[in-house]
Amino acid sequence: MGSLDKLLEGFKQFKQRYYIAEPELYAKLVDRGQTPKILVIACCDSRVHPAQVLNTNPGDIFVVRNVANLVPPFENDGKSHGTSAAIEYGVKHLKVEHIIVFGHGQCGGIKSLMAGGVGLEKGSFIDPWMSTAVPARGKILKEHSEKSFEEQCQICEQAVIEVSVKNLLSFPWIKSRVDAGKLDVHGWYFEIEKGILFELNQKEGSFSSIC
Ligand SMILES: [Zn+2]
Repeated sequence: MGSLDKLLEGFKQFKQRYYIAEPELYAKLVDRGQTPKILVIACCDSRVHPAQVLNTNPGDIFVVRNVANLVPPFENDGKSHGTSAAIEYGVKHLKVEHIIVFGHGQCGGIKSLMAGGVGLEKGSFIDPWMSTAVPARGKILKEHSEKSFEEQCQICEQAVIEVSVKNLLSFPWIKSRVDAGKLDVHGWYFEIEKGILFELNQKEGSFSSIC
């Protein structure tokens, strides 16, 4: 029960801040609804919660989290696509102005992919999900065979951000908004050991630190 007690204590503090000390914020969010301008696509990893890492307030960011912050390609096949549905809601209904693919260091999903663990467990949900990133693995094993496993994982973590950014642009209603200057798509990488934020240069396919 210790872990849950911590959550209840956390909720009390949250309530104190947003309902008692600053009641205007939620009153407005309830009255007018949410109007976040930014959609963040992040990993499920407990160390990289976007609202915590980016220090946002309630109502600031619309967040989609999945294993390895992947965006699958646009597939209009009538099947259930959770990540694509959330992206659609953020773009079409909330009309966000920015989408950030928020990748991170020491990603367990990427580590498993690079170790070749993906594809081994029959009936796993993770395997088909990670298939979006499999081509990136093949490329890294070929082009960076001399690098250590840790270095290959980091290259893959960043490559997967690039894949997700490209896949976002395969959604016609994202591409049209980007072309019209109404929406910007970004790739960010949170290096968790030193706490450094990197940004993807989409033309060059490289990352540089921004914060
Ligand atoms: Zn991760």
